[in-house]
Amino acid sequence: MLTSLGPIWKEIAAILMSIIMTIGTTFGAFVPSDTASPDKFLDNEIKNVIYLIGDGMGFNHLEKAKNERNISLTMDTFEYHGSSMTRSLSSDVTDSAAGGTALATGERTYNGAIGVYMFDPLGTFSYPKNITELCMERGMMTGVITTDLTSGATPASFSAHSSERGNTEDITNDQLTSGIDIIWGAANDVATKRGAEENGFTYITSYDDMMALEEGSRSFAQFTNNLWTLEQSDERTPNLEQMAGKAIDLLDDTDEGFFLMIEGAHIDKHSHNNDDEPMTEALEEFDRTVNLVLEYAKQDGETLVVITADHETGGIVLNDDGTYSFTRGSHSGTNVPVLVYGSDDVINPGEIINNYEIPIRIAYTLGFTEEEFPYEVMVA
Ligand SMILES: [Zn+2]
Repeated sequence: MLTSLGPIWKEIAAILMSIIMTIGTTFGAFVPSDTASPDKFLDNEIKNVIYLIGDGMGFNHLEKAKNERNISLTMDTFEYHGSSMTRSLSSDVTDSAAGGTALATGERTYNGAIGVYMFDPLGTFSYPKNITELCMERGMMTGVITTDLTSGATPASFSAHSSERGNTEDITNDQLTSGIDIIWGAANDVATKRGAEENGFTYITSYDDMMALEEGSRSFAQFTNNLWTLEQSDERTPNLEQMAGKAIDLLDDTDEGFFLMIEGAHIDKHSHNNDDEPMTEALEEFDRTVNLVLEYAKQDGETLVVITADHETGGIVLNDDGTYSFTRGSHSGTNVPVLVYGSDDVINPGEIINNYEIPIRIAYTLGFTEEEFPYEVMVA
């Protein structure tokens, strides 16, 4: 899984981890967080989970879009809504790797980390399990789809374990051998047709390929590699809404249920550039995807929908004249929305939780136990 050795401090951290593990074995597990008792979050009626992540999407992204376009957003209609504190273990301002890892595994880690413990970055002793792996253990079907590269930090956090987000080969290898049914996103020039087929995937590169997929198939998509720069997808490349619709069709096929992570990556990219129009279009595309997902969930009746962000990007503020504008070209530490449909067990209206609590609450809502998805968070 891991091919390259990290800097010296990481090796030192691995040794420290060994000491901590020894102490843990002797005196009990890591210090558990004091919030969210697992018993409170049991709800066995939920069978499927659709987890949407708007990369870089803060509350003011929604306000800015509504203000400038005079539109309403499906995201505003969610009954259960609160917010998430996004900091990582190494910084007040997280990147998408640590943010994604918290949202996928229930563990905070250092910026740049993909599904690894801060004190065991090389996975010498163990990796934190991600919620995709957890759902696979139950025989659920699983999918990870994004408008970013398939190896981008957010999709990687739900499908790989690597000490550095830039280890594209590592991450791709993990994804190919992960057992996940659907991994779709932009091409990274590492994933190949041969590699995908050797691991039981149908390799696809276009909208037509995607639409031709049949239930029961597993697929790995490498769509055009400049996907995020496109305001509207071309004929060959599906947009997020089209991907989500087809993915649900393919996954909604078993009694065991499914887990699907959907990332809208363009919100973050355009916010880094402070590009008003493209950011708003990306947000609208994300919201159309939310609408499609919500319609499905309402009809299905057994699907939990959770929307959040890994962090805010662009530091959008409200001006005196009622308009909204970017104040920075990077991530901020501002809290982000948590919106839920299908269960009142994930968040209470107005509640502020830590990002790492979200996958844990989802897991308990699905009926997993603390033994299956341990609530052993090393709190920052
Ligand atoms: Zn970013």
